[in-house]
Amino acid sequence: MNGRTHAIESIAKDRREIPPAPAPEMPQQYGENVFSEEVIRRCLPAKTAEKLLATMRGERPLDSSIASEVAKAMKDWALSRGATHYTHWFQPLTGGTAEKHDAFLETPAAGKALMELSGKNLIMGEPDASSLPSGGLRCTFEARGYTAWDPTSPAFIKRHNSGSTLCIPTIFCSYTGEVLDKKTPLLRSIQILTTAVKRLMASFGLKDERVFITLGAEQEYFLIDRNFYLQRPDLVQTGRTLFGSAPAKHQQLEDHYFGSIHPRILAFMAEVENELWRLGIPAKTRHNEAAPAQFELASIFEEQNLSVDHNMLTMEILRQTAERHGLVCLLHEKPFSGVNGSGKHNNWSVSYGSRNLLDPGDNPHENAIFLTVLTAILRAVDLYSDLLRSTTAGAGNELRLGAGEAPPEIISVFLGEQLTDIIHQLEHGGATRSRHGETLRIGVDSLPKFSRDATDRNRTSPFAFTGNKFEFRAVGASQSCAGCNTVLNTIVADSFDALSDKIERFPKESFNEDLTALLGELIRKHKRIIFNGNNYSDEWIAEAQKRKLPNRVPVRESLAAMGKPKTVALFKKYKVFNGEELDSRLEVFLAEYRRKIRIEGRVALEMARTIILPAAVAYYQRLIDTVLQAEKAKLPARSLRQTAEAVGQKIDTLNQACDALEEAIPGQPEGIRQAMAPLRTVVDSLEQLIDDASWPLPKYREMLFLY
Ligand code: ADP
Ligand code: MG
Repeated sequence: MNGRTHAIESIAKDRREIPPAPAPEMPQQYGENVFSEEVIRRCLPAKTAEKLLATMRGERPLDSSIASEVAKAMKDWALSRGATHYTHWFQPLTGGTAEKHDAFLETPAAGKALMELSGKNLIMGEPDASSLPSGGLRCTFEARGYTAWDPTSPAFIKRHNSGSTLCIPTIFCSYTGEVLDKKTPLLRSIQILTTAVKRLMASFGLKDERVFITLGAEQEYFLIDRNFYLQRPDLVQTGRTLFGSAPAKHQQLEDHYFGSIHPRILAFMAEVENELWRLGIPAKTRHNEAAPAQFELASIFEEQNLSVDHNMLTMEILRQTAERHGLVCLLHEKPFSGVNGSGKHNNWSVSYGSRNLLDPGDNPHENAIFLTVLTAILRAVDLYSDLLRSTTAGAGNELRLGAGEAPPEIISVFLGEQLTDIIHQLEHGGATRSRHGETLRIGVDSLPKFSRDATDRNRTSPFAFTGNKFEFRAVGASQSCAGCNTVLNTIVADSFDALSDKIERFPKESFNEDLTALLGELIRKHKRIIFNGNNYSDEWIAEAQKRKLPNRVPVRESLAAMGKPKTVALFKKYKVFNGEELDSRLEVFLAEYRRKIRIEGRVALEMARTIILPAAVAYYQRLIDTVLQAEKAKLPARSLRQTAEAVGQKIDTLNQACDALEEAIPGQPEGIRQAMAPLRTVVDSLEQLIDDASWPLPKYREMLFLY
């Protein structure tokens, strides 16, 4: 019995007990591991609590005189919940999260443990961290990296089998202040968009409301049995299958999507949700996705910075919980070729006071604001579509975009028919009628309410208006939302400012006419970015070419958008990144791309030579022996000989493909991927030919279907 058949047997035998349903107290446990407003009010004197909460709401900078008091309260609370350690929790350029634990323990006094957290240790940390990527911003001899508390995202407790750790969300920067993480630029971009929104609203005569930038992330993932995973060096090392022939049945019957959830998977989901709720992460929706073994989790939208942190934690909890259930959660964008990949839908919106600016309003004034905001976003996406695309570029997502249910690399905006019709009228001198008969003149009449049906029928668009938010769907499942939101916030802020520059000068008497003219002009300029049709169609590819909207942008070229003068100028203007910081990021992401693909190449080569080839040779040997014996016994051997010949030829092809790959590995990533393709083809065809019982790797039909 080989490892693969053993894996199947243990799944069949080991019908594990489905764990009991989550505790009925789950709703009461919501947020219990968060240093929340409620805890703060309970544990701190009222005055200190107020000061801290104001900082958490972003209303005032941190008053360092309260740090010690807050640190002590935080520590006491964490100890009461079983924590022994604390860590600054940050998001380096690796794309994941980082933590270095320190015990609360101070020099023991009289043989007794002294558990402390000082204000200084709460606010600042120096994790050393010289091995994290910095893209040349730090040389090792001056490799200090600093972490600094981000009070706008509350501290939380991470539970693990071996205890609990207090996690303090922080930013991460170099000794000289350059950013080395994903959170700092995100926070900066939130700040500048907030300022730009206030300015734009002021030009409409509104003031003193709080700006809320919101994000709701939908997370797709695959789950497979751990027994299979351990038999696949490609999954273990690269997160995706480098070989595997498509099973007869995969997703063509569409019977998995929204299907009833397998009890073992449901048990996993319930535990994930329980953990998430304890962390105050509002997990809301769970369902089977399109591909077999693929699922989705969506949380309720929150303030953007918090939501990004929560998505990072969600990915971690998905992975860890899977292990406990004998499963493995794959967050790679394309773990299995031939079926859907996994993305992350980034639902983005901006609120001003209690009003969502992407909600068409109830009165002329609100509608004018809505159309202004919408037009500004069209401008932003059209001017910076390359930059937006660059935030989704990577070795995994490259395999996903443009294939099977994933948006293509052509960035366009879906508005829906009704809204496009209104935009079209604005383009031609002012909206007077909506498609459904209601009259409308900007600033005068009312916009029709967009039912969700009318706005979200299109699932193929990378950037879709879905009723009261924009949904950016090109982000990869494993990618942090920080990157795309940093860009989105910045480019929209730039557009808001560009419009404010003009609107602020409109005389009161002609405000409506001037605004209508301005929006019309902008729409004429940027309407090429609107596309409501099927983004997967060949017609769109041709049409996009006519509109000069790029497609099939290689990853390296896509990333290079970060270094274009236009980008550098934008980020400098808003102080989100300086030139060096952009260069360093580009360097880190390019290196990551190269390294990931080189690893893939080497794993593929090793597997082909040391796992596939021996299996093929053994089978070849058996065939040859049989042919010789059959001929000796004067029994029919012609077809046997043909089979042996076919296997022999494939072994030749396999060896040639291995040699070619070996040669490509030191070279460019594109060349490596090119050389991997023929190797995969021949391995997958051997899989279709060789004795099933001796095929060494778990097959797609097993990994995707057996629980
Ligand atoms: P789907 O895209 O599958 O149709 P929904 O539209 O119900 O799903 O929600 C998708 C996500 O969008 C959820 O995370 C939801 O909380 C989020 N969302 C809803 N309203 C907003 C908003 N104003 N800002 C940001 N995200 C939002
Ligand atoms: Mg969605």
